[in-house]
Amino acid sequence: MKTAVWYTSTFVVIFIYLYCYLVQFIRGAEIRPQHHQPLLRSRLGAPPQQPALASYPSLGWPLSSAVHQHPSQHRQLPPLPPPPPPPEVFSDYLTPGNMAVSSSISVSSVSSAPVQVAPVSGIVAAANKPLDFTYHNYEDMTTWLKQFSASNPDLTALYSIGKSVQGRDLWVMVVSSSPFQHMKGKPDVKYVANIHGNEAVSREMALHLIQHLVKSYREDAYIRWLLDQTRIHILPSLNPDGFEVAREGTCTGGQGRYNARGFDLNRNFPDYFKQNTKRLQPETEAYKEWIAKIQFTLSAGLHAGALVASYPFDNTPNSAYQAFASTPSQTPDDDVFHHLATLYARNHATMYQGVACKPGSPSFPNGTTNGAAWYPLTGGAQDYSYVWTGTMEITVEMACCKYPPAAELPLHWSEHRQALVRFVGEAHRGVRGFVTDGNGRPLENVAMKIKGRDAPFQTTKHGEYWRILLPGYYRIEAYKEGYEPVEDDFSVTDHHATQVNLTLFKQVDSKNAFGTLDEVSNYYSLSPGDERPNKRQPTISNKQDVPHPTGLTGLLITLRSQMDNLFTNLFG
Ligand SMILES: [Zn+2]
Repeated sequence: MKTAVWYTSTFVVIFIYLYCYLVQFIRGAEIRPQHHQPLLRSRLGAPPQQPALASYPSLGWPLSSAVHQHPSQHRQLPPLPPPPPPPEVFSDYLTPGNMAVSSSISVSSVSSAPVQVAPVSGIVAAANKPLDFTYHNYEDMTTWLKQFSASNPDLTALYSIGKSVQGRDLWVMVVSSSPFQHMKGKPDVKYVANIHGNEAVSREMALHLIQHLVKSYREDAYIRWLLDQTRIHILPSLNPDGFEVAREGTCTGGQGRYNARGFDLNRNFPDYFKQNTKRLQPETEAYKEWIAKIQFTLSAGLHAGALVASYPFDNTPNSAYQAFASTPSQTPDDDVFHHLATLYARNHATMYQGVACKPGSPSFPNGTTNGAAWYPLTGGAQDYSYVWTGTMEITVEMACCKYPPAAELPLHWSEHRQALVRFVGEAHRGVRGFVTDGNGRPLENVAMKIKGRDAPFQTTKHGEYWRILLPGYYRIEAYKEGYEPVEDDFSVTDHHATQVNLTLFKQVDSKNAFGTLDEVSNYYSLSPGDERPNKRQPTISNKQDVPHPTGLTGLLITLRSQMDNLFTNLFG
């Protein structure tokens, strides 16, 4: 008898639960509770089960119904007058003539802390001797960087982001017509070389790039435009300790690859897919702090040991299996990454040919590969930059030989020069703009997203944002706690960056019907034609069409909550 009662009760409970579930489903309400995942600089939540785009975990973005459709504030930025056409082997590129111009207002640096400009007193400023094609150890490199910066104070600034295990500075040279100050609205780009200390060719390429950009500023219209519109941060050696023990002429192997404590720095970052238990190294820590302080739009890590441009993801949710499967681990921005890698490969002398370094080693069609499709790795800098800071970063393997004889350096430089320059220009592709509040004040840390691409990014303290996109039609979404979410449609063409400025209006606290003085003044500062934010609009956490769970819906939610508790208690 007791058993029959128990069965009947269970049946009734299940029936009521299913009924509640069905009613809510029909009403279009969201069944599961919404969890707001952290956006950037923290883990994005549980890793996806499959590497495919569709499985990228949701970040709890608001539905369109909760979004305030803001009057359009975007425009196609006007092109500059056409300059002399630069030599180009790849048709799909940006030139100074088809780049957009944004405001050149100069304000204080986005990067408030890390920039400790190297002292230049005592440095002989007459050091205009060209950089020779030899390898530069730490002392030589430091001397050259200081001298070159002192000789070119209008276009360069030298700073250290920290020190290696053995106390060597991790130098960064900024090359820009505004080297000491961030240019409001204009992107910052970085190159990071020699993460693996024995991949020495990348270090020398970085130094030659510094010299080339500065020396070409006055003669080359494209480079002048680039330096006027961009700040290019070049870190020639993230692993100066490893370089000191590596040996010239050694094409393979691991001597000098690791830092002074034996850690592989490109396996030392927090990982999106797997927990990385490796102890954080001083070089990695300095790097993380650096990129948390400066919002880089575009980046490349420079390596050697192959000839290919590789793009995220480097890791995959199922790397044990995938190590043999060579399946791509795609990001939501796979089209953009493929384009960036292709652009680099096509502007290199031979990379796009995809010739294997030697018989038996992999060949890469068009000179590009998805990182995980080549081989998955945990703790890489590339995935970290993309997931945690919203920077589009690729990895360039610059030469088959990691530490080729110095006599080969001129050849490598001539092959990479155009690709290194062209790649920076890609920071000006896509969409950019400012996010302000109702009073025109910049809004920092606004969570931004391109609809359909579950990869958020954030505004800087000046309310700026940038996102590289290929030509097409898009919708951008902006969300900040306490403000009405906003979204706007825009298009991107191949020849113009699109500027989309957004305004977020404060959300009136429903617990305080009268609002604060600030909110009230915002409310009345709207012009008569403006759409007025609805005080009763759902907050982001109420991800449903129904404004508030009242009446029957509220009862059903309460019932469902109790059922959940009951089921949890019953079945653990
Ligand atoms: Zn490497």
